[in-house]
Amino acid sequence: MLISRSAVLRAMLWLGLLVSLSTGSTIALSNPPAYLAIIIDDLGHNLSNGQRAVRLSSPITYAVLPDSIHAETISHLAHASNKEVMVHLPMTNHSNFPDSPNTLNEQQAEHEFLDTVARAIQQVPYAIGINNHMGSRLTEQRTQMTWLMQDLKKRDMFFIDSRTTPATVAEQIAIETNLKAAHRDVFLDNTRSYEAISAAFAAAVHIAKTQGSALVIAHPYPITLQFLEETLPLMKDMGIEIIRTSELVSFQLSQPTSTQTVAE
Ligand SMILES: [Zn+2]
Repeated sequence: MLISRSAVLRAMLWLGLLVSLSTGSTIALSNPPAYLAIIIDDLGHNLSNGQRAVRLSSPITYAVLPDSIHAETISHLAHASNKEVMVHLPMTNHSNFPDSPNTLNEQQAEHEFLDTVARAIQQVPYAIGINNHMGSRLTEQRTQMTWLMQDLKKRDMFFIDSRTTPATVAEQIAIETNLKAAHRDVFLDNTRSYEAISAAFAAAVHIAKTQGSALVIAHPYPITLQFLEETLPLMKDMGIEIIRTSELVSFQLSQPTSTQTVAE
């Protein structure tokens, strides 16, 4: 079973590479590696899945939910494994999904909003950046996003827009605030099947090969962790280098044709 899955995956990755070449890209295998950063978020509720995620050999980034029961443990484990830690900051969405007590929302006054941000950051030790959990509603609000980005700027943290709505202004305001920022290119496991995850991963590899880098967000589902355990060791052969999220942000900001403002 593993062999056939691996074979399917390899075929999809090479197909992605061939498409890159046939669409006019000058990228070849001898070129510098294409960069891929992978954030696993929604961490902190399930300890064993979190521990398994932290054991992944590549420099994966771990985004931890501040109000979750294992937030501190997962943050310590990730940091002890020399991995990057982020706060997975809950924000209101359009579906009124049940929020945690400390979800950022539009009803909060500025001081209340910033107190919530400060509390969240305190609950995730070693965090050096933030990405939004849900937030399809709040990331469309210029006022609240400006409060957030100005606060993160003072803290010298970076921001990753999870892009849970096409109308997000979060990354744009982060850039206007001169904050280091980037956005999610691909959600790896919107559909929790090995085949769908393989296809999403191949799409991310294609973006990395054509644009130089790509940012993937994944979740600590057992099927996702199995996929990453089997796939990450193949990356070097595919010309892909897994890098830290902070490195991806710096790399993208250093590119003359930054992809930051590209909409979905
Ligand atoms: Zn989330």
